[in-house]
Amino acid sequence: MAESLSGIRGLPGVWSQKRLILVFVVALFVVTGLLGFVLGESYLAAERQAETNARNIAGVLEARLGSTVRRIHADLEHLAVVLPRQAMSPDAAASYKESVSRELVLYAARFPEIVGYRVVANTGEVIYASEASFQPGNVSGNTADRDYFQALKNDPALSLVFSGVVNGRISGRNIMIIAVPVRGHSGEFLGLVMAPLDLRHFQQLFDAVDLGPNGVITFRRSDDARLVLRRPIRPDTINQKVQNNPLHLRVESGDPAGIIRFRAALDGVERIYAYQRIGAYPFYVAAGVATTDYLAAWYRTAALAGASALLLALLLLFALLRVMRLEREEAVNAQRLGDSEARYRMLADNSHDVIWTLDIPSLRFTYVSPSVERLRGFTPEEVMAQPLEASLVPESAAQVVGEIAQRVKRIIGGEAAARVVTGELDQVCKNGGVVATEVVSSYLLDADGVPRTILGIARDIGARKAAEQALRDTNQRLHAQIDEIERLQSALQEQAVRDGLTGLYNRRYLDETLEREVSRARREGHPLSLVMLDIDYFKRVNDTYGHQFGDEILKALGAALLLNVRAEDVACRFGGEEFLILLPNMPLEAARGRAESWRQLVEALAIAHGEFTVNFTISLGVSAYPEHGKTPDDLTRCADQALYRAKHSGRNCVVVFGSEVA
Ligand code: GH3
Ligand code: MG
Ligand code: MG
Repeated sequence: MAESLSGIRGLPGVWSQKRLILVFVVALFVVTGLLGFVLGESYLAAERQAETNARNIAGVLEARLGSTVRRIHADLEHLAVVLPRQAMSPDAAASYKESVSRELVLYAARFPEIVGYRVVANTGEVIYASEASFQPGNVSGNTADRDYFQALKNDPALSLVFSGVVNGRISGRNIMIIAVPVRGHSGEFLGLVMAPLDLRHFQQLFDAVDLGPNGVITFRRSDDARLVLRRPIRPDTINQKVQNNPLHLRVESGDPAGIIRFRAALDGVERIYAYQRIGAYPFYVAAGVATTDYLAAWYRTAALAGASALLLALLLLFALLRVMRLEREEAVNAQRLGDSEARYRMLADNSHDVIWTLDIPSLRFTYVSPSVERLRGFTPEEVMAQPLEASLVPESAAQVVGEIAQRVKRIIGGEAAARVVTGELDQVCKNGGVVATEVVSSYLLDADGVPRTILGIARDIGARKAAEQALRDTNQRLHAQIDEIERLQSALQEQAVRDGLTGLYNRRYLDETLEREVSRARREGHPLSLVMLDIDYFKRVNDTYGHQFGDEILKALGAALLLNVRAEDVACRFGGEEFLILLPNMPLEAARGRAESWRQLVEALAIAHGEFTVNFTISLGVSAYPEHGKTPDDLTRCADQALYRAKHSGRNCVVVFGSEVA
């Protein structure tokens, strides 16, 4: 079929669903990828920022610690050189005390970070100090047991020693001693100059640095891995060595500065550490920023972005599922529609009737079922190629086009009944003939309620019309036959009651009628009369003119009587040339008068016979109900007797029963 009945084509269905899923997956990947990329970038940026922060802090701290230690070291070395060698003996201390102490006070005043400068004799005894409270010979002032003293005393190559962290005997604070030896001209150990570094200053410095809630700063010895200072403060860790600490291993391997990320064994926190050695001194400082701190904002962003992406994905998934369900439903509907269309198409294609659809705006057929070829000789394709008018005889075409326009208006106007119409149309055949069809048209509405298509069924009614005509003809013939039969029947009935020669009623009819009329006269109290008449000397007429002429006389008498009786009177041939006339509702006297008038009528009759005319007369006897009898027999007998008397009275007269001859 070139054109679909409904005009609806198959829907994309499965392919469209696959494409949708693909689009969804790609969109999901793109969104996830972009999100991952952005989050990754911001993660790296946060990490770089944390590294930079840690490095900056480590750099600042190194600068501060380094410069302090360098300057103290320089002062100590200077003092170790300039101190008079004689002043190094405890015995000479009393005499040098004033000048040396003044010098020490001057130096100490430049460094708030140190508790003071002290000079120790080779006995370990502190002999000079910058503090005012110091008194030589104070027991707490002997340092002979201290490691830095022992180290400098025992190792002539040593020029600088740092002690472990100790609680100062004099200051009572956490301090670290920096000591430089004082040697004689031949290198002998004369004592040392030292400065206790007040670690509280550095602790305050560390505490002032913002490294986040889990940040850490360590100040550690690079030579023996002992901790000097830590932020936050952990007293138990001071002087403790670390083992297998990745940061320390790096420093130990000679790395002066760097970045390292690891989880601290001490508190289990992962951090990014920036470390830096303090100049040439056996220390390094490390600033660590906790991963959880520098990534806190990133985690929040990532969680928010992840949740948003998940929500978006769920929304997309929901939309996708919905679209897929709609598509599935649509596909099922399309399938149903297709099935239904196939069924209807099968019906249409195999229908004996011609099924068609017509596009109203163009007045062109959009579908015509194959049976059109049987009906009109045209193929469906030929019909669809023609305008509508070409299918109809000219007078029908104009009428149909007008009718369609009018109906479209009525339907748009809301007249639903105008949508279906049945009519008879003459259609043109390919062979030039015309076929009568009955067409049922149904106007199909589009979504806007406007009729755009007509679905129609055309049926060949030529045979039906012929049959109807044949039926009408047969009917007519039948009616004519019935009329004829009725006519014959009534004629037969007439024949049954009429006398064939005269046309008057016969004796049998009279008997029935007389019985009925006498009953009625009795019932209704009406009078009734009988007149019996007989032709005079009729035998002679027969004899003279022949029997046939006699018949003519009889006919003429019958005709004269028929003309001169009332409608309700019954004139009958009683037998031979005798007649009886029943006069219902007529009294005796009136009947006698009527009899007399007939006598005169017959007397005046002249019947032609060749060139002559023949005259004849009649005799009449009259009887009446109720005067002469109450039964038909009595009345008939009385009339007969009156007739008998008329004959005997000379004929051509009227005699009433029981009375004298007039
Ligand atoms: P009357 O005056 O006494 O009556 O004399 P009449 O000759 O008429 O006598 P009657 O009445 O006895 O005679 C009857 C005759 O009528 C006998 C018969 O030949 C004749 N006739 C009876 N029927 C017919 C008929 O049908 N046709 C003819 N032509 N003659 C008939
Ligand atoms: Mg007679
Ligand atoms: Mg007679």
